[in-house]
Amino acid sequence: MKVPMLDLSEQYQELRSEVLEVLDGVMSSSRFILGDNVKKLEQDVAKYSNVAHGIGCGNGSDAIHIALQALEVGPGDEVITTPFTFFATGGAIVRAGAKPVYVDIDPVTFNIDPDKIEAAITENTKAIIPVHLYGQMADMERIAEIAKKHNLAIVEDAAQAIGAKHNGKSVGELGSAATYSFFPTKNLGAYGDAGMIVTNNDDVAEKSKVIRVHGSKPKYYHSVLGYNSRLDEMQAAILNVKFPHLDRWSELRRQKAETYTHLLKEMVGDAVVTPIEKEGNYHVFHQYTIRVEKRDELQKYLQEQGVSTMIYYPLPLHIQPVFKDLGYKEGDLPISEKAANEALSLPMFPELKTEQQEYVVAKIAEFYGK
Ligand SMILES: *Cc1c(COP(=O)(O)O)cnc(C)c1O
Repeated sequence: MKVPMLDLSEQYQELRSEVLEVLDGVMSSSRFILGDNVKKLEQDVAKYSNVAHGIGCGNGSDAIHIALQALEVGPGDEVITTPFTFFATGGAIVRAGAKPVYVDIDPVTFNIDPDKIEAAITENTKAIIPVHLYGQMADMERIAEIAKKHNLAIVEDAAQAIGAKHNGKSVGELGSAATYSFFPTKNLGAYGDAGMIVTNNDDVAEKSKVIRVHGSKPKYYHSVLGYNSRLDEMQAAILNVKFPHLDRWSELRRQKAETYTHLLKEMVGDAVVTPIEKEGNYHVFHQYTIRVEKRDELQKYLQEQGVSTMIYYPLPLHIQPVFKDLGYKEGDLPISEKAANEALSLPMFPELKTEQQEYVVAKIAEFYGK
């Protein structure tokens, strides 16, 4: 049996006629940039996130960068974030001209540990970027409390967490802004690059809209430095077709997660640590990530047996070569470093079959001699 990490083909076959129709609509209209499809998606995603504004961007990485710039985070400022994330989180901080300050994670959720944030705050701290990793929100109530006390902005990196909730609150409700990625592999994926900022803050929304079009306001007059980062009409039209299915897909992901956890407990036992949904959270399982010893050997074994897995992420950001000038060294953030050596994400997508999950778990059990 072959089990891919992700297979988007079945979903495309289901939506094919609708997708082709809307693409034909865009091409027939000859309106390709910032038209009605983008507007509709911005309104729908903002409403879904329980906030007032959505600002479509070229991708999720630019969404973080633009949100920081709109919040006036720049040179001389420090931004607190987690090192256990995709590169783009740290990259956006540096591109905005600010300095990333990495804070270690909670070993259970893999998200930034709110207990460690205050010790990292200095007079230069301007913002916090919690990342809702794997589809589970960070402890936003605690983080919002800390931000309020120290007068800091919050940009939630929700690239992996559209639809996630924390004590009934959506992504974007407690932060100054939140950012989504619609990269094809994300829970709501375009057929190319796309992203969005959502915010309740009118000023941040207005500034973000100006920054994504070269800082142009009115047209051809530039008072801030922006660049070209827009969500295009074709991607927005595709996302408008997919968006009504998102909640059903999240439910299917949750069911697959439950099946994995049940099978792993039964067949493998304590050789694996299964992911935990913290009380009050609605986890949308962008990834189903286990912790294991002999992780690299297990991954190799599974690959030989036809099972694809991924390591998100093998090297935390504080020890990435590109950030060496920040002065961190190995051992500085031990919980993130340990997670980087033990985390393994299993195949996860709404169309994954139970037989495939049974096969994956049987092969893990075989590897550990269970
Ligand atoms: C995917 C991702 C991004 C970047 O999104 P792009 O659309 O690929 O630019 C940022 N942060 C995290 C945590 C991500 O997973």
